[in-house]
Amino acid sequence: MHDINPKSELHGDIRKAVRQLCGDFGSHYWQSLEEHSGYPEAFVDALTQSGWLSVLIPEDYGGGGASLTEASVVLEEINRSGGNSGACHAQMYTMGTLLRHGSEEQKQKYLPLIASGELRLQSFAVTEPTTGTDTTKTRTFAERRGDRYVVNGQKVWISRVQHSDLMLLLARTTPFEDVEKKTDGLSVFLVDLRDAERKGLTVRPIKNMVNHETNEIFFDDFEIPAKNLIGEEGRGFRYILDGMNVERILIAAECIGDGYWFVDKARHYANERVVFDRPIGQNQGIQFPIAQAYAHVRAADLMRYEAAELFETNQPCGTEANLAKLLAADASWEAANVCLQTHGGYGFAVEYDVERKFRETRLYQVAPISTNLILSYLGQHVLEMPRSF
Ligand SMILES: Cc1cc2nc3c(=O)[nH]c(=O)nc-3n(C[C@H](O)[C@H](O)[C@H](O)COP(=O)(O)OP(=O)(O)OC[C@H]3O[C@@H](n4cnc5c(N)ncnc54)[C@H](O)[C@@H]3O)c2cc1C
Repeated sequence: MHDINPKSELHGDIRKAVRQLCGDFGSHYWQSLEEHSGYPEAFVDALTQSGWLSVLIPEDYGGGGASLTEASVVLEEINRSGGNSGACHAQMYTMGTLLRHGSEEQKQKYLPLIASGELRLQSFAVTEPTTGTDTTKTRTFAERRGDRYVVNGQKVWISRVQHSDLMLLLARTTPFEDVEKKTDGLSVFLVDLRDAERKGLTVRPIKNMVNHETNEIFFDDFEIPAKNLIGEEGRGFRYILDGMNVERILIAAECIGDGYWFVDKARHYANERVVFDRPIGQNQGIQFPIAQAYAHVRAADLMRYEAAELFETNQPCGTEANLAKLLAADASWEAANVCLQTHGGYGFAVEYDVERKFRETRLYQVAPISTNLILSYLGQHVLEMPRSF
């Protein structure tokens, strides 16, 4: 059967190479990891060694120097192949904060080691239990004491801490009550996780519905050298926002990869499964929802390319990045649901991978930003309706 992605020749070399690598990590690999909640070490190592996780790092720092579109194609192909980029995607967008706002010394020290795979920067600590999406109310506090900051507080849902060497941390450095603008007084730090547990960081894993390593973390007089502050103290919220467009475009690409995977899986099954003496795909009740899901994946795909192109040409892309994430997450979720329904009872069987991918793609309705928050951004900032919060 032909490829249903009309852009499958675009960046063909990247797609071909990533597909080939993913071919070594098939269904059985992902299924067996689920059995013991394992982290895909071998897969992440292979991706790193082939340079795919560092494509966005400039060549001067040992990376691939690729465009955002090319990076998005890498993640799309991983998910399109049946894998899950969620195990390692953060490395692509967290390093952007270091690249754009870090000092030359920080960049020279860390980026080449991240590019070579000697260090992993896979963790990004923003969310807190009491403040949730209301990030400016962040309570974790970093107090400057001489040549160090002393951190106290708590974060939740912080992914890959146990499989990362470095973590970006967003913390308050000026109390909320003392700032003029609520977005002021937040700072970003690069935290070395390698001996952090000895120094006052407690990590508690959270069991969850996907095979995703994520944790509650607690800082108890945890010290960070002042030289690990990224950029200027108090401007961290802007730095984080800067990286969010990239994050949204990359996550949109993953959802699009999922979407094509689900549609493909559904159409194959619909053509093969015979009930009442005909392929179930002959029934329009089965065929039309698959066609509809496909149309939505294709439409979201266009928005991903538009957003990435605006970013690459240094034009404002906040609206398009949000639209791409929203449309792609909705399209992949619709495709997941249709694929599961098409498979009937077999959709629930682990060996078909549908139930695993169904759970995995559901996450993107909630993280890294929930659908409602994108809708409120569009309502307020694009459509100029009243502010709701
Ligand atoms: C598996 C997993 C991995 C994650 N990894 C990370 C990570 O590595 N680092 C990190 O920092 N975070 C991570 N997160 C956290 C994720 O970004 C948050 O869960 C998400 O941003 C939502 O925040 P919350 O859970 O606190 O929801 P809340 O803010 O409590 O919101 C709950 C619901 O209410 C809705 N809501 C809230 N306020 C409004 C409003 N004003 N109007 C309309 N609706 C509203 C939200 O849309 C949401 O649906 C992860 C989460 C999960 C589940």
